[in-house]
Amino acid sequence: MGKLENLKIAIGGIWHETNTFSSVKTTYEDFVHYQLVRDEQLVRRYRDTNTELGGIISELSEPGISIFPTLYAAAVPSGIIEQSVAMRLCNELVHRIKTAEPVDGVILALHGAAVAEGMDDFEAGILECVRQAVGASIPIVATFDYHANVSARMVHDASVLIGYDTFPHTDMAQRGREAARIMMNIIEKGTVPHCAFRKIPLLTLPLDQQTDSEPMRTIMSELNEIESNPEITCGSVAMGFPYCDVSYLGASVIVYGNSIESTNSAADILARKIWDSRECFSSQTVTVEQGVQRAENSSVRPVVIIESADNVGGGAAGDATGVLEALLNSSNSRSVVVVADPEAVGAAETAGVGNRFVASIGGKTDNQHGPTLKIEVFVRTISDGQYVHKGSYMTGCVTQMGRTAVVEAGNVQIVLTSLRTMPFDAEQLRCVGIEPTQQDIIVVKSAIAWKAAYGEIAQEVISVDSPGACPARAGRLSYRAMNRPLFPLDSAVTYTLL
Ligand SMILES: [Zn+2]
Repeated sequence: MGKLENLKIAIGGIWHETNTFSSVKTTYEDFVHYQLVRDEQLVRRYRDTNTELGGIISELSEPGISIFPTLYAAAVPSGIIEQSVAMRLCNELVHRIKTAEPVDGVILALHGAAVAEGMDDFEAGILECVRQAVGASIPIVATFDYHANVSARMVHDASVLIGYDTFPHTDMAQRGREAARIMMNIIEKGTVPHCAFRKIPLLTLPLDQQTDSEPMRTIMSELNEIESNPEITCGSVAMGFPYCDVSYLGASVIVYGNSIESTNSAADILARKIWDSRECFSSQTVTVEQGVQRAENSSVRPVVIIESADNVGGGAAGDATGVLEALLNSSNSRSVVVVADPEAVGAAETAGVGNRFVASIGGKTDNQHGPTLKIEVFVRTISDGQYVHKGSYMTGCVTQMGRTAVVEAGNVQIVLTSLRTMPFDAEQLRCVGIEPTQQDIIVVKSAIAWKAAYGEIAQEVISVDSPGACPARAGRLSYRAMNRPLFPLDSAVTYTLL
């Protein structure tokens, strides 16, 4: 980057994965509770973390480049974002970027599956507003999640879009560094690469999207091969977020490169590969009772039971009781379940550590996640529920679970949290005194991303098909907005490459 001097790059972002089937709207408080930072605090918070911003900051920390931090807002995946909140965040981001002007470039960390009331393509709206603010000639590079439902509108206003290449997501800082390098190349050359965007009429579920298992492993190695071509700037595969009912739901491929021909051809190869693999996205689940029974009888420990329908990282309530109830009915094994239930935390605080009381646990958010259970429990600990990520997901970042109580019913330990928390780091349990390696059964409210926390210690993994806002079968959902036909929901789907 020797030739570049006195550059000012504005950085920021808005990140949310919206589950339109969730009954809970996403409020300003949800951003406050998760990630909402401004100005220099943004650099302090994310420097040296495994986040997009961490990677952007480290790559831009060069002589001659000044970073202009604006706003970064993220909420734990949940329901549709209130319109006033979306407007407030977008307006503030744009206002702060305008304050920075003149800027030489803007780098944003987005998700790609955010939906706000009245704005079904929130990221496209953000990019349009930022584009309007900085004008046509200033490059805007944005990162997005592997679960983005990328739209043509999103592609239109960004100079380059760069998606995560991993699920579980562990390459956020790498993608941030890539975004910054591409930004510097665009500024240096004075040209924006050609773009080829392909939308594939394919809906896949998180359980089938893991990038180190087939069919994604082969697809991602094809992507690596394509990116090794010097004519190609970068390529991304976004498999989409199925719990977000928007017209442009589904898988996509975006490739950028120096020539129209090589860029189009690379995008077509990838799109064809994904389409040809469409029959291979089909994971196996068992009923909750079968899953718990199998875990009980297993000869290895710990066993992880995946309760993906209550996937907190997919916007579900985090208070489903299906697996918990089955464990209470049968368990002779030492097991642990995390349930988001601030009311039950309050009741545990009132009862006090070392005491027993009859708790009402879970099933309170809506009627999608099973009944509230009345259970006599012993209060083991109460804490502030804060931890620093030590694993590969958002390494170095702090997560707040809010006031957190560990209660026990026989061999079942229930971690009651005030805030919904994604189980992506083993510190979630360790910070409340539970050692994951010593458990017989760990229940995760997650599909795949839990592997960043427990993937290395899990000796057996069982997926159950239970009720919740992120069902393991797409057929359980009633889509209204999504463009049809879409494989595998519709029988006669054809896909013709241009
Ligand atoms: Zn994701």
